[in-house]
Amino acid sequence: MITLTLTQAEIDDLTDLLKDRPDLKPLLDRLTQNTPNPKTGSGFRLGATSKARLKGVHPSLTKVVEEAIKRTPIDFTVLEGLRTKERQRQLVAKGASKTMNSYHITGHAVDIAPLVDGKVTWDWKYYHQIAPVIKQVAKELGVNITWGGDWKSFPDGPHWQVPR
Ligand SMILES: [Zn+2]
Repeated sequence: MITLTLTQAEIDDLTDLLKDRPDLKPLLDRLTQNTPNPKTGSGFRLGATSKARLKGVHPSLTKVVEEAIKRTPIDFTVLEGLRTKERQRQLVAKGASKTMNSYHITGHAVDIAPLVDGKVTWDWKYYHQIAPVIKQVAKELGVNITWGGDWKSFPDGPHWQVPR
């Protein structure tokens, strides 16, 4: 038994070479299983809570999240999607949000947090591991996405939104 670790370029070449040979797919899977692959994914899945929290969220944004979870190098969870006006009022009152014009109210935003050892983390370094994958997936799906982490004043690491 030989253990191989292939480069991304080698995996791409092999995948391309074998695209008309579905019979060799099991072999390809075995060849690539030791290499974390940002394109075919790390294989995380959305939990039931995350799925429930995507209810009422814009379909394009939902699609990005559902695809991104398969590819991010670390696991993540959906903290919040659609938000009621009442909850937004409470957040503004607490100072946790600055606007009553939140994209969450219309289902155009989700908050996503990385999971480390199964726990939500607020450490920016993990958000920076997830963000490029979400951006890449959005690009591939033609979804114009904005990351709150890119905002200059009040960067918001968990926050992702699409135009409304
Ligand atoms: Zn948010």
